[in-house]
Amino acid sequence: MSLSPLRTSLSCLLLLAAACSNAVAGPSDAVAENPSSINAPGSVGQAPASPTEPTAPAEDVGQVPTTPTPTDTVTPGETPTAEAPVVSTPGQSASVCAPLTSLSSLTGDLTTWLQTAPIALANSGGFKEPGGTELAAFEGAFRTLLTEGPTPQVVQDLAGMGYGVSTFRNATGGGWLVVREQGLLARGGGTFIINLFPARNLWLEAPHADSDEGTLRQTATQLVTLGARALLITGSNRCAVTTASPCSGTTSVCGTKGLRISDAAHYGNNFFTAAHRALRATYPDAIAASIHGMDAGTGPEAAVVSDGTSVLRPESISNRLRDALNTHLVGTKKAFSCNAVDDSGKHRALCGTSNVQGRIDNGAGDACFTEAAAASDRFIHLEQSATLRGTGASSRAVMQALADTVPCTLAGSGLGCQAVAAQDCP
Ligand SMILES: [Zn+2]
Repeated sequence: MSLSPLRTSLSCLLLLAAACSNAVAGPSDAVAENPSSINAPGSVGQAPASPTEPTAPAEDVGQVPTTPTPTDTVTPGETPTAEAPVVSTPGQSASVCAPLTSLSSLTGDLTTWLQTAPIALANSGGFKEPGGTELAAFEGAFRTLLTEGPTPQVVQDLAGMGYGVSTFRNATGGGWLVVREQGLLARGGGTFIINLFPARNLWLEAPHADSDEGTLRQTATQLVTLGARALLITGSNRCAVTTASPCSGTTSVCGTKGLRISDAAHYGNNFFTAAHRALRATYPDAIAASIHGMDAGTGPEAAVVSDGTSVLRPESISNRLRDALNTHLVGTKKAFSCNAVDDSGKHRALCGTSNVQGRIDNGAGDACFTEAAAASDRFIHLEQSATLRGTGASSRAVMQALADTVPCTLAGSGLGCQAVAAQDCP
């Protein structure tokens, strides 16, 4: 019982290699559900709870921002105090594939489907804060899901919190676990995807998936294309409720000054943060990338990258991502880093130092109230102009830069990675 998750998944794949050749057939952008199980499957193709803004242009139009509305304007207000992050070793993993047969299964195109992920609208009241006991239970259940797979007990535990677990398979291969709110218990808690065949020790987060326009499509694409471990999608617009978040930092994005508790990046008592904590505990060395959008205005920045602190540190992972971005970006606007002494972009304040998930990864004493004093190089905060969040060359440059920054170290398939095993369960 000492197999690592990776080793175990490889064993599973080798055993199932013969069956892995029959990819699930289905329309590329439709979703079919095959209820085969002990779990009542939810409806599929359900209407999204919140229509998103019109998406960014299909063609890249250079470095001119086309969507000025999304902005991240958070500034920190606390003195940094922190210590090194506390991490723990992952638990043991059971077979990746074996427990899946008891789950409802979805097939289609994951990237397309995720764009209908439910997100409670601004001022809808749709975010309901879970209690502390429930958050701890969710974190534990999510961690079990990562280490042991969807055991009957963990599926039952999650169901008790309003979350269903399904498998998702693309027609082109690949397999994921989808953890999503179902039924009347929906509380704006978010949608979480776990890649069964990751290629990179990376996961993606979209805490402002709707208001930072384009980041939902972008992260969904990155999850699949890069072969990332997971994607966390907020279930609430950051302005869904009016209750103020006590966490340090401020913004005026909701019309009045101040952060709200529905802002997944600026409040810790939500399922999004619980899932983040579970991922961090399971994969202490993985990179978490929080993907955002800014109003770049007339500034020189195409992107502002941060390690979650404002500490100047030449070897920072944020500087490496900045350099990779500047290698691939076309046009006159460039990427800047909050952690490079020679960078002084107009939007440099957008360093994510008040991002709760970043503070957790950087070992802040209290992720809600205090900034981290030092960076762990396990967290990347990426602010992007509208152009980079589009679907053109600049968006592909972001993809390539992330691929350059986080190497292929796992067995699955991803951009530039040599998959060493089949990518499907039977
Ligand atoms: Zn944002």
